[in-house]
Amino acid sequence: MIEKTFLMVKPDGVRRKLVGEILARFERKGLEILAMRILTLDEELVSLLYAEHIGKDFFPPFKEFIMSGPVVVCALQGENAIQSVRAIVGATNPQEAAPGTIRGDYGAITRYNLVHASDKPETARRELSIFFQDLCEDSPEI
Ligand code: ADP
Ligand code: MG
Repeated sequence: MIEKTFLMVKPDGVRRKLVGEILARFERKGLEILAMRILTLDEELVSLLYAEHIGKDFFPPFKEFIMSGPVVVCALQGENAIQSVRAIVGATNPQEAAPGTIRGDYGAITRYNLVHASDKPETARRELSIFFQDLCEDSPEI
């Protein structure tokens, strides 16, 4: 099934100039970049994107990091895109992420794990609507 999903290169990925290498992996898999923007997250965007994590112990330093510089947000489309992108990204903790995944190849600690990707269809819909309202209006099915 063709799906759309949300992907973000976090500030560590942008600072380390890994945007091209990261996005190339999704393109090589056959996923299409439907929309893309570079921006710095503000308080409101962080609280929308990471609502489920507000209040957790790791959140204050993570929030400072995630707002510390530009991120690249993308809408990706392709076969089984949500699960496929999560597989390419790898496990949350880069020490547990398999070699060959983005986090396994480039990451060392959980806070700086380079990318965010939607974990299920309802999350993908919600996260895409935060950054790509136009896309959602054009495609009511996502
Ligand atoms: P994922 O990004 O794999 O979906 P989560 O949704 O559980 O992972 O967490 C969101 C992000 O918060 C992670 O990608 C990571 O950057 C950060 N994070 C999660 N747990 C921790 C932790 N224990 N310590 C530091 N950062 C964390
Ligand atoms: Mg998550």
